[in-house]
Amino acid sequence: MVRRYGGKTQDGVSVDSLIEGARSIVSVIYGHIYFPTYSNGLKDIATFLGYRWSTEEPSGQRSLLLRHRWEIEGSTTVKQELIAYNSDDCGALELVVKTIEQLIPVDAALLHPDAVLVDSLKPQLPYRLGPVDFVLPELDYINKCAYWDYQRDRIYVRSNPRVRRAARRKQRGSRHSLRVNKTFTPSRPWKCPKCDSRKIAKVGRHSKVLYDLRFSAGGVRRWITKYVIDHYRCGTCSLSFPSDEYEWTRHRYGLQMLAYVIHSIIEVHIPQLKVSQNVNTLFGYRLGQPSINRLKQRATEIYRETYDDIKNTLLNGKLIHADETHLGTKRGAGYVWVFTSMEEVIYLWSTTRDGDVAKDFLGGFDGVLVSDFYSAYDSIPCAQQRCLIHLIRDLNGEVLKEPFNEEMKELVHEFAAVLRPIIETIDRLGLKKHFLQKHKRSVTCFYERLLAREYGTEAGRKARERFRKNRERLFTFLDYDGVPWNNNNAEHAIRAFSGLRDVIQGFSNERGIRDYLMLLSICQTCVYRGLDFLGFLRSGEKRLNEYTRKRTV
Ligand SMILES: [Zn+2]
Repeated sequence: MVRRYGGKTQDGVSVDSLIEGARSIVSVIYGHIYFPTYSNGLKDIATFLGYRWSTEEPSGQRSLLLRHRWEIEGSTTVKQELIAYNSDDCGALELVVKTIEQLIPVDAALLHPDAVLVDSLKPQLPYRLGPVDFVLPELDYINKCAYWDYQRDRIYVRSNPRVRRAARRKQRGSRHSLRVNKTFTPSRPWKCPKCDSRKIAKVGRHSKVLYDLRFSAGGVRRWITKYVIDHYRCGTCSLSFPSDEYEWTRHRYGLQMLAYVIHSIIEVHIPQLKVSQNVNTLFGYRLGQPSINRLKQRATEIYRETYDDIKNTLLNGKLIHADETHLGTKRGAGYVWVFTSMEEVIYLWSTTRDGDVAKDFLGGFDGVLVSDFYSAYDSIPCAQQRCLIHLIRDLNGEVLKEPFNEEMKELVHEFAAVLRPIIETIDRLGLKKHFLQKHKRSVTCFYERLLAREYGTEAGRKARERFRKNRERLFTFLDYDGVPWNNNNAEHAIRAFSGLRDVIQGFSNERGIRDYLMLLSICQTCVYRGLDFLGFLRSGEKRLNEYTRKRTV
């Protein structure tokens, strides 16, 4: 430009001095000034500072295009636009430079009110929650000494009287000085239980305290029982025996406590940690995580038979709904399967979504299996009913995807025309094969029409193939009493599991998950049968069937 137009601008300024005086503003900003923008681009920074371009969406590329158009067309409006754009850029740059000049303070007191010196910022990034690996053991020790509990219990106690009092209160609570509500004194045996000899002698005494709860109408309270047991020895056969035997005394906590804890976790979905907090606050016990774990394991041992009962009833029944859902855990992912009838629910855990899980469980079942269209169920050798709601939703989706696909629309219309009267019959008369079989003719007609027709579109062909492939699994319910045409029953059970999902997810080991699912199976079966799960747990009855029988008698 100097060669073409000489070394002076229109205003008589030397071009050389302009070039020499040029500064890269980016190099001033980069690494020194951090605007709250995503880039150091002029558009970002100037827009943040409040500059507004006269054109919408200004961009450097667009200016190249404008220049090109102007060269070809010579249009003055294009030229005006280009000049406006360039002068906007200059204005924006000017604003940025002025701001920077204000930002750089002569002394800290003159700092721009919206700016903060980087050095004065509190570093936040290196800190995080959770354990830190320290290079030196000394650092580890120092870090541990900063823990909240440690400082309160060891350090502040020495200097702060209020903290000292709080610590003393905490200690007092932890001493098991809870009042005993009832004491069972030992009975006095007069003969040996084995040889009937009367030459028996008391050789010792011990007592056992059982921590429990007591439910009353509208309330629950702490209930502590003390059992005093004498030890005897037979002088004739030298048998050692206790004066009394109590079923629950080998445990620290009683059955009502077990019921309360299991109910809280499984039915109300309270995480284990919170349950222990809840029990400790309300009842003054010191029920820790290990105790809760033991209670849960004890429950799975007590109710193992009930679980098997439910499973056998389900497998010997006429109807099973199946569904499965994904579950991510700490250690990895797996699947929760649900198998349910109208009255029984069984949850299973597996690490794969393999069809073998369903096949193994359903081995020997010869009722009707209701499921969605997941192919894992295809190979199960019993009568099957696919969920028609799933099918309808899929077909609806296809029609929405291709709104001008007339043959698809027609196919869906025809299917709906077959299904609607069937649903009306069910609505009026229930799931009775006597009434439903009358609809089989219209189903046959539907299939004859469908299979005789050639489909021109991909979607049409796919839908036809799906109907053909599942011919034996779409209208099975017409031949049975009480077989639903959808899988809502299983989906409902899956939802019941979802409530427990967050509680289980924190658990990494497989056994923990299986325990949860076993207890949840019993809980959900109670719900399906209209029974009170907590009531069953509290009853002391091990078998659900027995509990039901006693209640109905
Ligand atoms: Zn004896």
